[in-house]
Amino acid sequence: MTELHVYRKNADEVQVKAKIEIEPSPDQSLRFKLAEGFEIEKILDADGEPLAYERTEKIAEPYSFAADTNLYTVKHVPGASLEIRYAGSSTGQHTMINEDIISLNYCSAWYPHRLSCALQAPDVTVYIYAPEDCKVMDAVFDEENGRWCIGDHRLDREIFIISFCRCREMKNDVAAIYYYGEDNDEIARDLIRSAPQLKDYFTELFGGFDMEPVKIFSLPIDVNYGGYNYNGNLIYDRFILDFDTEEMQPYHDLKQKHGISKNLIYALGHELAHNRCQGAAGNWEAWLNETTADWAVFSYLIEQGDEALVSDLINLYIAFEEDEKIRTDDGKRPQQYHSKGSILFYKIYQKYGLELIKKLLRAFTDLEHKTTAAWLAEIEKISPALSKRMDECLSLERLGDLEF
Ligand SMILES: [Zn+2]
Repeated sequence: MTELHVYRKNADEVQVKAKIEIEPSPDQSLRFKLAEGFEIEKILDADGEPLAYERTEKIAEPYSFAADTNLYTVKHVPGASLEIRYAGSSTGQHTMINEDIISLNYCSAWYPHRLSCALQAPDVTVYIYAPEDCKVMDAVFDEENGRWCIGDHRLDREIFIISFCRCREMKNDVAAIYYYGEDNDEIARDLIRSAPQLKDYFTELFGGFDMEPVKIFSLPIDVNYGGYNYNGNLIYDRFILDFDTEEMQPYHDLKQKHGISKNLIYALGHELAHNRCQGAAGNWEAWLNETTADWAVFSYLIEQGDEALVSDLINLYIAFEEDEKIRTDDGKRPQQYHSKGSILFYKIYQKYGLELIKKLLRAFTDLEHKTTAAWLAEIEKISPALSKRMDECLSLERLGDLEF
């Protein structure tokens, strides 16, 4: 069992005590990486004696959404546990530390990443020392010790903490949103109002829709990395999607044309739909999860009279489309796994109408084993010609200019 104790050091830094149990290694050494924004204060053995360590190398991450890290080696760990104390801050996707907010995750590399088990963070409990009236994602408040606790059962992929103090809040039975800035009240209200409608729609569409009340955390951060679904919580990097780069101008125009609320309702609906639209593998088959989630919410929008938003979104996908097959030659996830299938579905929608799209969605969510082949076999029962044509399209480089 590893314990991570997270304290606030000052307005923009945290202090962490990482109590780590290690598996015995033949030479009793430990190698780990930690974001370069953190300074190690000391490393102690099980008896509290300082251990020698060295910083051996800097690892520059190729992606802007991940923080650069430093590699550390503790040459000799005499026992089965040790404590690493460090403090600082980090950068990376969905990362922010200010006087009210602590938001850190895998991309922030804020906890010691064992090099032997890359993404895995097994049996970790995180304690966050923040007041009870804060909103802490996936955590329960431990009154006796005055801290928040995130249990290990949630931490199967990465350790993501979000603690919001003095935030604004709007909620109903289906969704709650935590955010900052009075200016955002109206959008928050629109968004929260749409949640029960989306839930009802998906219940009817899929013939049942289990959904825990969803919590939305909106980080008032300058860099926009979009939304993220973590254990059913939604994280938005910015509430007002104020894209300001030239490249993002078309998205900015879309926001202006249809309103911020509509765009956020699309994003919320997409993430909610993933409660059913999921289960395909993370390789090229991942297109199934994204296309069905997108089209579940597109169906909702079309039936709400917002078809113009759907076609504008699809036209943006098409404008940014690059040559790439959905069914990649190496079987890996295509870069555009998020948009390609939605373009394909738009072509199907234009030709066959929305009722057929809804049948395709149900055929997917009803599958026991979610693979493209199994889905196409189900579609074949509806229309052999459609199934065959879809199969062909998965191996085309470009779908935007396709005559379906
Ligand atoms: Zn998605």
